[in-house]
Amino acid sequence: MDKKFRVFATCDIGEAIDMLRRGGYDVEVYPHPEAPPKKLILEKISSGIDGLITTLRDPIDAEVFEAGKGSLKVIAQIAVGFDNINRADANRYKIPFTHTADVLTEATAEFAFFMLGTLARKMWTAEHLTRENQWGYWHPYLPFLGDEVTGKTVAVIGTGRIGLAFIKKCVGFDMNVLCYDPAYENHAFVRAVQEVNDLRQRHGMVKEAAWIKYVPFEVALPEADFVSVHVPLLREGESATPTYHLFNEKNLSLMKSTAYLVNTSRGPVVDEQALAKALRENWIAGAALDVYEKEPLPADSPLRDPAIADRCRLMPHFASAARITRLSIDPNKGMAGRCAQGLIDVLEGNYGGDITKMPYVVNKEAFTS
Ligand code: NAD
Repeated sequence: MDKKFRVFATCDIGEAIDMLRRGGYDVEVYPHPEAPPKKLILEKISSGIDGLITTLRDPIDAEVFEAGKGSLKVIAQIAVGFDNINRADANRYKIPFTHTADVLTEATAEFAFFMLGTLARKMWTAEHLTRENQWGYWHPYLPFLGDEVTGKTVAVIGTGRIGLAFIKKCVGFDMNVLCYDPAYENHAFVRAVQEVNDLRQRHGMVKEAAWIKYVPFEVALPEADFVSVHVPLLREGESATPTYHLFNEKNLSLMKSTAYLVNTSRGPVVDEQALAKALRENWIAGAALDVYEKEPLPADSPLRDPAIADRCRLMPHFASAARITRLSIDPNKGMAGRCAQGLIDVLEGNYGGDITKMPYVVNKEAFTS
C-alpha cells in the first residue's frame, strides 16, 4: 500500500481494528460505548479521512458526504440493515457504502426463534416465579400456562436471508409456514422445505407432513399462530411496499387473539403505540421485540407498562449479538471481519477497482456506467 489510509471508526469493532492497523491503516476509534455526536463525525470527515466505519446508530446523510467531498472514499457499516444511511445521498456523492449481510443471518434467525419460544412458553414469567419465591405448588394450570410451538403455523414476513434461515429453524419444530414477500418469492426454497417435510413424514418422524406456501399479507395474518418479521425498514417513497408501521392498528387487528408477534427487524416497522394498545386490550396474545422506534427504549415507553409485562418480551437489539458473529475477523464468519474487508476492498481497489464487483458494497447502482 503506497499511501497510509486514515479511518475513523464510530465504535470499537474489536480485533479487526488491530488487523487494519497491522495492514498499515491509521485507525482512530471513538472510545466510548455510546454513539458519537454527529458534530464529531463531521469534524473527523472534514479532517480528510479516507474511510468511516459506522454502526446503525450513526445518521449518514448529505451533510456527511458534503463534509467528505474530495477525501472520503467509503462508509463501512457493521450491520446488514442500512436505514441510517441515506442511499440517494450516497449515490449523489458517489460514495460506496458496505454492509455485513450473511454473516449474521443464522445468529439473528435463531435468536428470533428463541424469542418466539421464550414468549410462547412464558419462560421469563416462569423464571420470575421461581426467583421471587412464588412457586408454591405443582398444579395442572395454575398460576398460568404457555402455548406450544411444535406443529403450529407461523407467518414469515420478508423471506430474504434471515426470513429463510428462520424458516429452517421452524422446520425442526414441525411448523406450517405462511410466507409473505412482495418483492421476492423463493419458490425453489419452498419446494425444498416441502420435500424435507414430506421426507420426515415418510420416515415416521411426524404423523402429518407440515406445509409451506406463499400467501398475501392479509391471508397470512389471520391464519398464523406466530408472526415473525424479517423486513428492512423502508419508509414512504423508498419502496412500492414500505415497511414503516407495517404493523399498525389495522394490521395488528387482523391477527388472531391467540397469536404472537416477534420483531427482530427494525423498530419503526411496528407502531409501538398500536402494539401497546393491542397487548393491553388483548387483540393478540403477546409480542417479543428486539428493536424499537427509539433505541435505547425510552423509560416512558408504553411497552414498559407492567400490566402487559407477562406477554411482552423486550430485548436490547441483541439478535446478532453472538461472539463469532459480531467479532470474528474472518469476513466469512464475522461482522467485524466483513466490515473491515468491505473497507479494504474499496480503499485498496480490489476487484480491479470495479466497485460493482465488490461483494459487500450495497449501492452498486451508483457505479454502473
Ligand atoms: P434481506 O434484504 O435479505 O431480506 C429482506 C426481505 O424483506 C427481502 O426479501 C425483501 O423483498 C422483503 N421485503 C421488503 N419489503 C417488504 C414488505 N413490505 N413486506 C414483506 N417483505 C418485504 O435482508 P436480511 O439480511 O434478511 O435482513 C432483514 C432485516 O433484518 C435487515 O434489513 C435489518 O434491518 C434486520 N436485522 C436486524 C438484526 C437485529 O440485530 N435485530 C440483525 C440483522 C438484521
